[in-house]
Formats: sequence, structure tokens, C-alpha cells
Amino acid sequence: MVDVVTEPLSGVSAERLALREELRREVAGLCRRFPDEYWRELDRERGYPEAFVRAMTEAGFLAALIPEEHGGLGLGVTEAAIILETVNRSGGNAGACHAQMYVMGTLLRHGSDAQKQQWLPQIASGEIRLQAFGVTEPNSGSDTTRLRTTAVRQGDNYVVSGQKVFISRVEHSDLMLLLARTTPLDQVERRSHGLSVFLVDLRDAPQEHLTVQPLDMMINHHTTAVFFDGLKVPAANLIGEEGRGFRYILDGMNAERILIAAECVGDGDWFIERATRYASERAIFDRPIGQNQGVQFPIARAHVNVRAADLMRERAAALFDTGQPCGAEANMAKLLAADASWEAANVALQTHGGYGFATEYDIERKFRETRLYQVAPISTNLILSYVAEHVLGMPRSY
Ligand SMILES: Cc1cc2nc3c(=O)[nH]c(=O)nc-3n(C[C@H](O)[C@H](O)[C@H](O)COP(=O)(O)OP(=O)(O)OC[C@H]3O[C@@H](n4cnc5c(N)ncnc54)[C@H](O)[C@@H]3O)c2cc1C
Repeated sequence: MVDVVTEPLSGVSAERLALREELRREVAGLCRRFPDEYWRELDRERGYPEAFVRAMTEAGFLAALIPEEHGGLGLGVTEAAIILETVNRSGGNAGACHAQMYVMGTLLRHGSDAQKQQWLPQIASGEIRLQAFGVTEPNSGSDTTRLRTTAVRQGDNYVVSGQKVFISRVEHSDLMLLLARTTPLDQVERRSHGLSVFLVDLRDAPQEHLTVQPLDMMINHHTTAVFFDGLKVPAANLIGEEGRGFRYILDGMNAERILIAAECVGDGDWFIERATRYASERAIFDRPIGQNQGVQFPIARAHVNVRAADLMRERAAALFDTGQPCGAEANMAKLLAADASWEAANVALQTHGGYGFATEYDIERKFRETRLYQVAPISTNLILSYVAEHVLGMPRSY
């Protein structure tokens, strides 16, 4: 059974703390250039926040986790999480660009020196975008190891065939990190073996071999179905060893969980602030609605839960950044934060009464957006099953 570490965090220098504060200020300053109206309009038009992503890239924020030697900021997950949290805290949506942070980790940890030298500086400078992550398939869903997309070695290439679904930002990315099966399921010892990770260059992919079909979704997330029909991917774009791809993807999961938890915390704080402000200003029955405990208690409770989730997020990030095991904390942080942001969203909507449904208040937009975290990138049930099996030692359920 894995113990949850409970001693206080230590060893964070005053300089590091100051840097984090400065980061918060800088990101918040950038986000002020992209107010509610900007996001509302994009939501209405289903547009991609091109100007925002460019500004984030130019400021270097999306390269937070790329080492300085490759042109990035060389920061930790704690700082990367602060960046994403601040975007969502400002009313924006980091989902437009967050994948670059956690997808890039696979290349960083498992790519060859040549691959890192080829791609990382260009990603850091914004010359190319690595925003697409192709894992989910219609027939396997959460059961990743049963995915059916194949990559078959032919000379200097792998030939990829299959279908992915709900793959975000493909149309706004130059590269996709793809998980495909290189050894058939019936020829591997374990289902998690025989999967490999590739960097697919979407720029030069011929249309007859790669089709991208936008999906109409509840939120503005630029999500697509992707069809591979004999697409040639150079063998030089295989990341790490053939057949070990599932392990590589798992390695990136903790960072992903922490970063997503941070976005949830940002959302949660945004909802609480809006609900508090509205409850204090809106007067009905000759007094602010927030004077009624029936209105203020749910807001206070949601705030408490966001703060608790934030602590778990901080702990998970601190463990991650000091190279300690953090699977339990990262997963718990994601679960707590997703629940807390959803609770805060519900409370904010309720507090706003009918106005919560009016697009001009932005509550309904953020309400839809934060609901996603219960399902993607990993569903709440799958986190509970991780905790039950890997933290509490109960029998594997699937
Ligand atoms: C807007 C959006 C963007 C996305 N972007 C990406 C992306 O960029 N790249 C990518 O690869 N994927 C992406 N996804 C896919 C996302 O990761 C999956 O939707 C998610 O992992 C769940 O898979 P599924 O939808 O197939 O659900 P399923 O696996 O079919 O699960 C359906 C429900 O059943 C539950 N369930 C399934 N099995 C079990 C079990 N054994 N025990 C308990 N409960 C279970 C799940 O928790 C879930 O609630 C995105 C999804 C959305 C909605």
C-alpha cells in the first residue's frame, strides 16, 4: 500500500517563491488582454484562440517545461501548473494549448538526443506546435491497451492505419503524438506491450492518408475524429523503443493530472469569485441575496473544497518536481479539483439565477467547460479505480 506523504513541504527557496508570484502576475497580465468578450465570441463562433495562444507562446509560457538548453524556461510542473491555473482563473480556457506542456514530456523523457534537438527548440519558439495527442479510439475508449490503430514497419517507415476519436487541436497543431499498436495483441505477453509512440508531422500528411473530421461538441474544444489510411510515418519519428509506448504515455500521466487539477482550481476560484460578487450585489427582498445563508453557505463550502484540492495539487506538484513518487497524489488532486470546480460551477450558476444561463455572464460557458474534467483526459471512475487498486491495494477491477 502506498503511503500518502503528510509532512509539510520544505526546501522551496525564497527566489523560487518570488518567481512563482511573478509568474502569476505576468500570466494574469497577459490574460487581461483577452477578456470575457474574447472567449465568449470564440465560443459562439467555435473559433480557436489563435491570438491568445500566440501571445502565450511568445511570452515563453507554453515552453515552461522545456529545458533552457532547448530554448524553454526550464521550470517545474509547479510553475507550469501556475500558468494554466492562472489562465482558467482569468476566465479563459487553457485547454486550447495545455497539451503542449504534457505531451512534450514524452519527447523530453524518451526521445533521442537527435529528436530533442530537432523538435524542442522549434516547439519552444512557437515555430511549430505540438498540441495534438492521439490516444482515444471509438472501440476501446478508456481501455487504451485494446486500441486498434496499427503502425506496421515497412523499410524506413511505419505505415499507420486506424481511427482515433475526440482528438483535440489537430487542426491547430503541426505535430501529433500518436499511440499505435506495433505488435498484434495476440502476440504480446501483456496487453500493455506492443504499443508505440510516434511523432506524426501533420503538415506534410497527404489528405488521402490522413483525414480530420471536426466534431460538434458541447464545448469549444476543437475536437476531431482522425482517420489514418496507410499514412507513412518515418521510423526516425518513433519515440524511444518500439513496443514500450504505453509505459511512456503512463510516465506522462502524473504531470497531466497535476496540470489539469490546476486548471480546475483556476476554474473553481473564478466561479467562487463571480458567485461571491453577484451574491453581494444582487438585492432581492430588500437585501443582497448573499445575506441569506442558503445562498452563502454553498459558496463558502465550494470555496473550502477548491482550497483543499489546491493543497493536494501543490503537494503532488512538489513531489513531482523533487523526483518523488506522486501517482497517488496526482490522481487524487485531479479528482478533488475536478469535483471542486464542478461544485463551484453549479453554485455559481444557482447563485446567478436566470442570469447564469445568459451567455453574457459567462457562467454557462465556463460551466460547460469545467464539466469536461469529470470525463477527460481521464474519467473520475478510472481515477477511483487507480486509487482503489494502486493506493489501497484492492483487487484490480478491469
Ligand atoms: C472534449 C474532449 C476532448 C478530448 N481530447 C482528447 C485528446 O486530445 N486526445 C485523446 O486521446 N482523447 C481525448 N478525449 C477523449 C477522452 O480522454 C475520453 O473521452 C475519455 O478517456 C473516456 O473515454 P470514452 O469517451 O471512450 O468513454 P468510455 O471509456 O466508453 O467510458 C464511458 C463511461 O464509463 C465509465 N467506465 C468505463 N470503464 C469503466 C470501468 N472499468 N469502471 C468504471 N467505470 C468505467 C467511464 O468512467 C465513463 O464515465 C477527449 C474527450 C473529450 C470529450
